[in-house]
Amino acid sequence: DVRTAYKTDIVVIGAGQAGLSTAYNLSKLGLQPGRNFVILDKSPEAGGAWQYRWPSLTLSTVNRIHDLPGMQFADVVEEGATEVRASVAVPKYFAAYERKFDLPVYRPVTVKVVCDRGARLRVETDRETFSARGIVNATGTWETPVIPTYPGAERFEGRQLHTRDYRNAEEFAGQHVVIVGGGISALQLLDEISRVASTTWVTRREPQFRDGPFTQEDGRAGVAIVEDRVRRGLVPGSVVSVTGIPWTPALKAARERGVLNRLPMFSEITEHGVRWPNGTEQRADVILWNTGFRSSLDHLAPLQIREEGGGITMSGRLATQVSRDPRIHLVGYGPSASTIGANRAGGAAARELAAYLGLA
Ligand code: FAD
Repeated sequence: DVRTAYKTDIVVIGAGQAGLSTAYNLSKLGLQPGRNFVILDKSPEAGGAWQYRWPSLTLSTVNRIHDLPGMQFADVVEEGATEVRASVAVPKYFAAYERKFDLPVYRPVTVKVVCDRGARLRVETDRETFSARGIVNATGTWETPVIPTYPGAERFEGRQLHTRDYRNAEEFAGQHVVIVGGGISALQLLDEISRVASTTWVTRREPQFRDGPFTQEDGRAGVAIVEDRVRRGLVPGSVVSVTGIPWTPALKAARERGVLNRLPMFSEITEHGVRWPNGTEQRADVILWNTGFRSSLDHLAPLQIREEGGGITMSGRLATQVSRDPRIHLVGYGPSASTIGANRAGGAAARELAAYLGLA
């Protein structure tokens, strides 16, 4: 019932890099937080998904966290403080950012579902209901871990966990850990865990390592491929699958230690380990699934923005606008699923949506 809903123009869902960049840009356009737009976030603290990242992910082991528009990371975290946990530093930075630009985030507020009510969109949460003319969805991927299905998974008597559940290597000391996945997280955790436990590393495809530094052109080329996919309504795919994994000093050292012996995927999980099609078995105490995340978009299901193949056709300058419903922008999705991408996409989405709604 729209009468009982809190009316506003735009609801920004999520206050990670993507949501904060959007909110900053809406505010710069002269829109008033609280009146023209509200920012909702389900997490208890500032920091987006960074607040949940494992303790050994520090400012020296992340790829790179780009500054949000208008304020430097270095203003909050001392330059050179590379051993600081990302899960501490980023929340501190985001909290200072929210204060500096007066961007009040309502938290913890979980958006349960968004429905089309004709001229308005109804945003139902675990607290109030909101009625908006447009939304910017910036809910990230952390809430939607992906674990592929393999026969026998339910029989396994050891422990299975996803990247999302990882805390530190010490809990696996002396055990045998099967590490699944060919992305950056898989390799970082393989490196850490192989120092205290024996490991088996499996990936679906041969991992694509790359020599030389990761340049801005490489980044742009990777983003362009993903952007092209979403403009055609295909599922985005990951940027890493396009750009390959750079040989960092840590990975070179892991190679020297002989732990980067990649095996193809097993075909079956047994009570005590995993088995390949040729019958070879590996006993394991733990299976760690570093098999990625999907965009957390289930709350948008009633809007029917997906194509039959599961993709969402995107348009707009940086492909943030949902073609089927221009009142909806997705930031941090597809080509903008990085801190730098989310930054820029937040600006594009704010300007396009404000213009579309006649607000700026
Ligand atoms: P998030 O930071 O996930 O923020 C989403 C917010 O939405 C959260 O605060 C969440 O609480 C909220 N939310 C979710 N669902 C709801 C809901 N239903 N209702 C209300 N609120 C909701 N990128 C880089 O550029 N550099 C890196 O070094 C890097 N390292 C990474 C390391 C790991 C382990 C992972 C998984 C990703 C990494 N990325 C990195 C990618 C990076 O996380 C993203 O690019 C960026 O931080 C995502 O920002 P975001 O705002 O889209 O999402």
